[in-house]
Amino acid sequence: MIVMNLKSKEKILEMLDGYNRIVLFGDSGCAQLCDVGGILQLEDMEDFLTKNGKEVLGSVFVEGGICDERALKKEIEEKRAIIDKADAFLVQACGVATQNLSEILPEKESFPATDSKFLGTMPERFYHKERCAMCGECILDLTAGICPIARCSKGILNGPCGGSMDGRCERDADTECVWQLIFDRLKKLDKLDNISRIWEIRDWRPAQSPRNIIHTPSE
Ligand code: SF4
Ligand code: SF4
Repeated sequence: MIVMNLKSKEKILEMLDGYNRIVLFGDSGCAQLCDVGGILQLEDMEDFLTKNGKEVLGSVFVEGGICDERALKKEIEEKRAIIDKADAFLVQACGVATQNLSEILPEKESFPATDSKFLGTMPERFYHKERCAMCGECILDLTAGICPIARCSKGILNGPCGGSMDGRCERDADTECVWQLIFDRLKKLDKLDNISRIWEIRDWRPAQSPRNIIHTPSE
């Protein structure tokens, strides 16, 4: 999932300065899982903005994700009456969602209510761990299913570095050295040869933005 935080309320008011009639956007995907753009958070935002002098005309809640353009367009059509009256849109979802809105409804401004942080897991409610940096060429087959790019503070491939101590990263005592984790798991899998591989300088072109992908539907 895309992990994100709500921006501070001060920052949100600053962005909306000069815009009075607002429509909120949220979704049942990452936005809801991150507690930034689910139904409850849309209601909280409506209360907050109303107390601060804004008129919230309503909200658009997309089942799935606002990143799904077809689902978003369908919801927009259903809420056309409030969309047309709005001065601006506040998007309680990831940066992709805000950009989708800006493209689909270019005549009005869409503002991001969140900061998108990383791709991660959710071991517990309100708790997320970074797990993927979308490098464009996954190497988990060689690293025992543990990502050094997202989980090593230096993102190094020929780890561990000299700062690894007792299984901990030199960054801080709470962070596990991911290369120690990779070593331990490869050992269990009897694949330690993988760690003795010397990686060439990585070709980062697959990670170069902007990227477009066209999937071929399966038969
Ligand atoms: S190797 Fe790349 S694609 Fe695979 S989990 Fe790590 S960052 Fe993501
Ligand atoms: S101690 Fe381990 S996780 Fe930390 S920077 Fe070095 S190799 Fe990466």
